[in-house]
Amino acid sequence: CGIVGYIGGQHAAPLLVEGLSQLEYRGYDSAGIAVLTSGKPRVVRAVGRVRDLEAALPKRLTGTVGIGHTRWATHGPATEANAHPHASEDGRIMVVHNGILDNAATLRERLTADGVALTSETDTEVLPHLIARSDAKTLEDKVIDALRSVTGTYAIAVVSADDPDRVVVARNGSPLVLGLGDHEMFVASDVAALVRHTSQVVHLDDGELATVTATGFHTFTADAAAVAKTPETLELSA
Ligand code: GLU
Repeated sequence: CGIVGYIGGQHAAPLLVEGLSQLEYRGYDSAGIAVLTSGKPRVVRAVGRVRDLEAALPKRLTGTVGIGHTRWATHGPATEANAHPHASEDGRIMVVHNGILDNAATLRERLTADGVALTSETDTEVLPHLIARSDAKTLEDKVIDALRSVTGTYAIAVVSADDPDRVVVARNGSPLVLGLGDHEMFVASDVAALVRHTSQVVHLDDGELATVTATGFHTFTADAAAVAKTPETLELSA
């Protein structure tokens, strides 16, 4: 239901939680974040409110890159195991997702037949597994590859322990916006999560992806063709 992401010079966890709390008005049943620390991402998820997630966070959750999600369950009940982010088997790739993947049942069967141990009942979980299993070289191409297999609607944000300098996002039928800061970048499904940090935003259109780093962004299509986007300035009401 709600997506946030951060990459920059500050600790990501409190910013992600604060961003998620700005999206609470949309309704949700569980929440979670993943933060890239040295090595594997650390994941914390909780059923209930964003404050329940906050209460579950370890005192020291360092790391300046991360993604977060408030979930409105469509596939599988509101449990901690079904809350996002969802991970690849080795835990190195993390995905949050808004929307509905129509062919998830088929993909789940195929992954299970291939020996993947699924840990949730969600449609979303196929994505980290498909990304991890792609033969493509870059994280961006792995994401494109994975998205070729799915049908349905999505806004996604992806982080990988193997590419800790970036957040990769994609949009098809579910909103996604980048917030441009000074040596820091934000990602959200709704500008409400960005307005406290920046007034410079870039809206993705359907079929577009973006790589977001601390200092910039690159937007492209599923054919890996670059798309030029002009940032918009939000009119902030006092
Ligand atoms: N379909 C996904 C799920 O049930 C995402 C739902 C959402 O948009 O929050 O986990």
